[in-house]
Amino acid sequence: MSSLIQTQAIVLSKIKFSDTSKIIQLYTKELGRIPVILKGGRDKSSKAGTITDPLNMIEVMIYNKESREVQTLGNCELINHFGNIREDYDKTIYALAVLELVKELTHEYEQNDRLFRGVTKILEKFESGSEHPLILFGRFYVFLLEILGYELQLDHCSICGNLISTGESLKFKFNSGVICGICSTKNFDSVFITPELYHLLLCLKMGKKIENSNSNWGKLLQSFLESYTKSHVESYKGLTSLRMF
Ligand SMILES: [Zn+2]
Repeated sequence: MSSLIQTQAIVLSKIKFSDTSKIIQLYTKELGRIPVILKGGRDKSSKAGTITDPLNMIEVMIYNKESREVQTLGNCELINHFGNIREDYDKTIYALAVLELVKELTHEYEQNDRLFRGVTKILEKFESGSEHPLILFGRFYVFLLEILGYELQLDHCSICGNLISTGESLKFKFNSGVICGICSTKNFDSVFITPELYHLLLCLKMGKKIENSNSNWGKLLQSFLESYTKSHVESYKGLTSLRMF
């Protein structure tokens, strides 16, 4: 069956394909993540070729055929090109990292309204500069993990079930969650988690305000979330867009 679908979409990536075309990964409102081919997209005068740059939010027509792996892109219009993000190096890097997470961790043709709204909302927050880009990236990452079914377990010890209290020396087990001070002395199959990192994760998850942000804990946060993700998603290799940090 084939149909013509009109939908909003965020451009995740774009690569050359053959002499004339491009393959674009879109995260769409109606179909989830899909690859589309833009015929003639390498022609400099192609309007669609210029508005399908990664990060852009666009309105597209898609010729969708269920038997086909790659769909054909028809008309498209620019909704938002996020000019403030593009003018700022940190914002660009972390916004692209958000897109890479969506590209690497979602399955094709899995529509998810909540995730589409989440991606849109986080890009708008990058654009308005309401918080440090690293914090926005962390907020989105923790939100995405929950959507994917890998919610971070932070409030109760994953071994004894007791409520975690501040001031404990905590550990974290990637396949289950946080471990309280008492249980952590008997558990060796887990990693230490500093009070700062624990507090930060809690704030990211609960949507609480985060006071001071510096890049020291940024690295710690990123490596924690990546290790956590790798332990749940075998195919996940980590983010290439943040590797230079
Ligand atoms: Zn415990």
